[in-house]
Amino acid sequence: MPTTAEARSVDPTRTGVLRKRYAQHYRAMWQRVNAAISEYIDGVDFSRPLPQRMVEFNRFVDTLLQQELGRAEGDQERGLRAMATAAYMRGIAQANTEVEEDMPPAQQAVRQPDHDSAIAALILLLSTQLGGVRSSLTGQLLQRYQQANGSADAKSALRERIQKAGRTPTDGIAADGVVRGYNDALLNTYEAAGLQFVGVVEEKAFFQTAEDRRVCARCYEASQRTDNGFGPGIYTIAQARGLIPMHSRCRCRWRRLPPGLTSSQGTLPAGSTRRQGEWRVPVELAPQNRNVQGLRRR
Ligand SMILES: [Zn+2]
Repeated sequence: MPTTAEARSVDPTRTGVLRKRYAQHYRAMWQRVNAAISEYIDGVDFSRPLPQRMVEFNRFVDTLLQQELGRAEGDQERGLRAMATAAYMRGIAQANTEVEEDMPPAQQAVRQPDHDSAIAALILLLSTQLGGVRSSLTGQLLQRYQQANGSADAKSALRERIQKAGRTPTDGIAADGVVRGYNDALLNTYEAAGLQFVGVVEEKAFFQTAEDRRVCARCYEASQRTDNGFGPGIYTIAQARGLIPMHSRCRCRWRRLPPGLTSSQGTLPAGSTRRQGEWRVPVELAPQNRNVQGLRRR
C-alpha cells in the first residue's frame, strides 16, 4: 500500500474549479425551480379534488423542468457545450505537455473532427443523464404532492426532493462530466501522438483518511492490479476508453506509458514523465515472462 511519502495531488485532473462552476450553474437552476414550485403551491386550493390537482401539478412541473433544464443546458457560458468543451480542452492542454510530438494547441485542436465528435458524444451523454434526472424528479414530486396534507407540508416535501433527486444528481453529472471530458481528451491526444498504452493516476486521497479509502478502491485496483494482458495497471487506449470516471465523483486520470510495450520483448518497459514520475513494470510481469502473443488475441 502507498505511504504518505508517495502523496500526490488529491485531484489528479486538477479540474476542481471547472467542476464547481458547472455544479453551481445547476444549483442556481434548482433554486429557481424551487421558488417557482413554492409560488405555485401558494396558489393551490387544497380543498379541491386530488385527481384534478395532480393533473394540474404534473403539467406545471413537467413544463417547468423542461424549460429550466433546456435553458441551463443551452446556456452559452455554463451550458453543456461550454462544460464539455472546457473540460476537454483542459485534457488536450495537459496531454500536449506530456507527448513528444508537436500537437496543435487546445483552442485549435477542438475544431478538428475527431475531437469535435468526442465533445458532441459527451454532450449527448450529459444531456441524456439530465433527461433522466428530469423524468425521475417529475415522478417523485408528483408522489410527494399526492401525499401532502396542505401547503406547508407540500412545500417542504417538494423542496427536500428537489435537493435529493435534483441538485445532488446534477452536482454529480457536472463533476463526472468534467472528469470524463478531460480523460477523453487525454486518450484522444495520446492516440493522435502515436502512444499505445496508458495507466491510471488514481486519486491518492484514499490513504489520507479511512473514509476516503473506500471512495477510490476501484481506481487503486485499476492502477495497480488490473491486468488486461500487458501487466498490472497497463491499458491499451482502446481498453481505457470510457472507464474513467470509474465511480461517482472520481477524479482519476489516465497517463501516458512508454510506447512499444509489446515489441519490447527482453527489455523491462520503464519510463518517466515530467509530471507523473517514474513508471516501471514489475520484473515478473515484464513481457518476456508472459505469453504476450496469446494474451494479445483476447
Ligand atoms: Zn477514481
